Amino acid sequence: MSERKVLNKYYPPDFDPAKIPKLRLPKDRQYVVRLMAPFNMRCRTCGEYIYKGKKFNARKETVQNEAYLGLPIFRFYIRCPRCLAEITFKTDPQNTDYAMEHGATRNFQAQKLLEEEEKRMQKEREEEELNNPMKVLENRTKDSKLEMDVLENLQELKELNQRQANVDFEAMLKQHKEVEEEQRRKEQEEDEQEMKAMLEQAQNRRLLMDSDSDEEPAKHCPNPTTRTKPRAILKTKQNKNKTKKTPKKPPKKPTKKPQKTKPKQKKKPPTKKTPKTKKKRTL
Ligand SMILES: [Zn+2]
Repeated sequence: MSERKVLNKYYPPDFDPAKIPKLRLPKDRQYVVRLMAPFNMRCRTCGEYIYKGKKFNARKETVQNEAYLGLPIFRFYIRCPRCLAEITFKTDPQNTDYAMEHGATRNFQAQKLLEEEEKRMQKEREEEELNNPMKVLENRTKDSKLEMDVLENLQELKELNQRQANVDFEAMLKQHKEVEEEQRRKEQEEDEQEMKAMLEQAQNRRLLMDSDSDEEPAKHCPNPTTRTKPRAILKTKQNKNKTKKTPKKPPKKPTKKPQKTKPKQKKKPPTKKTPKTKKKRTL
């Protein structure tokens, strides 16, 4: 039992490893692997579509005499699921992709093919220009001419569009009306605001007048905006004098005021602020 744990085995003195028979396998031997189709393709024999991701039991082999930077390239053999025709494709490490080999055509590649073609053209041109300075000039003039043509075409198209553009009178009228309406509304709002401002101003002035009236009543009398106060002040004076302005008395307030003046202390208050002035006066 202890034997199985032994790490060092006994080699007899005449042991020769070269004499051990080797398992000789062919280099292009094939393995069976399970894989998924790496791209969409269509069988050339029966026209069946094989979509990316379809699973196959494939045979895999290393491609002989072909490598990319030392990387081996593998080839896979699958069978069309409908007609059993053999389809092969290879790995393509240069483009990190797979390359169709035969038995099917690859689908949905138009964009890629176009890009490749463009790249190839560009490369060709560059090579040509490197060797031939005249070609450079030629290409440049060609390019500028092409650009001019494109611009011209664009201008023409624009003009054509303008010519075909219809004049919509209805829409124009409607727009005009809307603008007018807007203007009218604005004017109205402005008027209202002005009115409000003026009213406020007048009220403020009135308040100021009330607070100042006991000190300088004579100055404020001519002010036209504050009518009630100066009159009241005048009336109080009139009550004291009872000479000049008795005929001038305005309709309601003056008639009441003289009656109330008799108690002398709390006379007529047409507004709330007048009592203050009178109190001060009495004081
Ligand atoms: Zn097929």
